Amino acid sequence: MKPFTYQSRQVEVHFGAGKIKELPALLQAWPRALVIGTERIAGQVQLLQDAGTSLYWFKDVVQHVPEALVAKALDVCKAEEASVLVAIGGGSAVGLAKAVARELRLPIVAVPTTYAGSEMTDIWGITGANGKVTGKDLAVQPRVVLYDPDLTLGMRPTLAASSAMNAMAHLMEGIYAPAGNVLTMHLAAQGMGILREGLEALASAGELTPEVNEKLLLGAFMGGKVLGEVPMALHHKAAHTLGGSFGLDHAGVHTVLQSHVLQFQWPYLGEAVRRMFVESLGSESPWLVLQDLARMNGLPTQLRAVGLAESQIAEAAAIMSKAPYPNPAPLTEEGLRLLFKAAY
Ligand code: NAD
Repeated sequence: MKPFTYQSRQVEVHFGAGKIKELPALLQAWPRALVIGTERIAGQVQLLQDAGTSLYWFKDVVQHVPEALVAKALDVCKAEEASVLVAIGGGSAVGLAKAVARELRLPIVAVPTTYAGSEMTDIWGITGANGKVTGKDLAVQPRVVLYDPDLTLGMRPTLAASSAMNAMAHLMEGIYAPAGNVLTMHLAAQGMGILREGLEALASAGELTPEVNEKLLLGAFMGGKVLGEVPMALHHKAAHTLGGSFGLDHAGVHTVLQSHVLQFQWPYLGEAVRRMFVESLGSESPWLVLQDLARMNGLPTQLRAVGLAESQIAEAAAIMSKAPYPNPAPLTEEGLRLLFKAAY
């Protein structure tokens, strides 16, 4: 077996339908909460207020955590003398809580409403004048995560599918991560199988049923845990580069690239790793399953469909080959150009 290093993070996870009712009791440990979430979480804020939780509700949430919004949230947090940050929402709400926690070292309680997985990681990201800057800081790792499937059930089927494909990408790279470990790898393979079943069921039902949603949320939890435990590789760098450099939809780029990246890595994966993909995705050509899962759920499968211009392929390959990082397949500018062309 390959030698490995494994670090688990300290986080208390509560999972199950109706768990949101336990939030007021969980927050009793802190005198005052800054609750971060859009108008969509009015019901959850009401639940907290009815239970007597002292809170201020910060409703401004913007994708990719803009610097100016972070400054505003910091001011409000200080003025309200909040002692805990409660993020109720998708990756954007959790991301804002992380940006505040990074400065003020306050604990975060996260209640995800999508399958993004940010709640399980110590990764933060803030968008400034020069684009999105990301980093790792244990202070931003949520202390408590409450997964209540009733809160993700409101997603329309395509949002649920693209969010689940985002979770799938964490699991995919967790399996072949060069700095991975055997524990995370097995968790990732298990999660991939769960998400595959969930995405197939979502496509055939045409709606997010409670059963399918619970399955996808469990897979998302596993995806977040994997993302927090091992450094990601080519797929995440490519999604970040294409999304950031050309302003493409984050979830769309993730969805399109996955199957192409897996096929690109395939010749460089060991037999045991390949078996994990074959078994969890149920095919000798697992990259085709990833493409089918996207297609059957009405998601894009080509980069052109998410807005990349053909002329940007060479530029993307050039940007990506400038900063090397560990990856199973060697990364050359020409190889990346061919990868993006195939995905185009
Ligand atoms: P998001 O929070 O912006 O949510 C996407 C959309 O779904 C928004 O319009 C939101 O209002 C809506 N939404 C959220 N919950 C809903 C629900 N239950 N029903 C209906 N609509 C709902 O984004 P996201 O997709 O959750 O996450 C993506 C973001 O998270 C990206 O910015 C990504 O970079 C970040 N992210 C960070 C990490 C990390 O570890 N730091 C991990 C994964 C993703």
